[in-house]
Amino acid sequence: MQKDSFRSFKAILRKSEKIAIVTHWSPDVDAMGSSLALYQFLLKTGKKPQVIVPNGYPDFLDWMPGNNKVINFQDNEKKASKFIAECDLIFTLDFNSYKRLEKLGEELDKSPAPKILIDHHQEPDNFATLHYHDVKASSTCELVYEFIVGLEGKKIVDAKIAACLYTGIMTDTGSFRYPSVTDYTHEILGELLRTGIKPSEIHSAVYDSYSLDRIKLLGFALNEKLKVVEGYPVAYFTLSEKELARFNYRKGDTEGLVNYPFSIKGIKVCALFNETEEQVKISFRSKGKIDMNKFARKYFNGGGHINAAGGRSLESLKETENKFTELVKTLF
Ligand code: 5GP
Ligand code: MN
Repeated sequence: MQKDSFRSFKAILRKSEKIAIVTHWSPDVDAMGSSLALYQFLLKTGKKPQVIVPNGYPDFLDWMPGNNKVINFQDNEKKASKFIAECDLIFTLDFNSYKRLEKLGEELDKSPAPKILIDHHQEPDNFATLHYHDVKASSTCELVYEFIVGLEGKKIVDAKIAACLYTGIMTDTGSFRYPSVTDYTHEILGELLRTGIKPSEIHSAVYDSYSLDRIKLLGFALNEKLKVVEGYPVAYFTLSEKELARFNYRKGDTEGLVNYPFSIKGIKVCALFNETEEQVKISFRSKGKIDMNKFARKYFNGGGHINAAGGRSLESLKETENKFTELVKTLF
């Protein structure tokens, strides 16, 4: 855990007007929730914030307040680079390495602006000036809540900020069921609900948002693509580019799929291999002490958390699968 003092955060914020908020490649709900919550907060305190994402995110997040002001670096490289070059301060949210930004990382690297990292991933690289980092936090949204309250107190948290934070905590904890959830997480959720947000509406907006293609892809994956590594509590899916195309795959359509095999009694490690034109994108999940962050770092150019990590492979889907089924045995 590394949390710098609120005095140092206040000092840097006092001097800053134009503030960039940057989050990771393929932003997930925690990434967008934390970024947009911080955006709403900074607006309220009279700053000029700008959320910049490296690429697109699922459209079931379009309802989030401030969504229409987000700059996508892939669509608008010039505008994003200009803001980053000119801003006074950069917040880096929900990631631990510039590698997670792809090309946008080069812009941050060039920028002389001080950086405040807020994150809960393991072993952050050394790019930030100040840190609000805790791997025990359930989500970056939980840390942003603490950060906002630490700066300005609970009263500043309104329904807009609360909706963003609630959504990120909800998804990063698998709807409040992972071991990262504590009494403290629920206390925060209580505070958020007191602003008047409706949890049933947020759950519905996020989870009842499948397209027909997406649910059919889920059925196909469960029925035809789920494999178990013989003799080990390991289950995984591989999905080829062709198979994904058959279901008109759109970004986010396989979000959550990796966790389904945990419903099988005894399964301790799950993986999902998605083939794209350039690479195989991998998701790893585990239960208990089995460390997928280390595994992903060591063998699959990735990282993340102990129980949830990701990586990639430039080998073929089949070669990647074979490599995984051999190496995963070393975890037991
Ligand atoms: P997911 O499987 O949902 O894509 O990612 C699971 C976790 O691992 C997330 O917390 C994500 O930030 C992290 N992660 C995913 N892909 C990568 C990667 O390529 N590198 C690193 N360092 N972390 C990743
Ligand atoms: Mn997160």
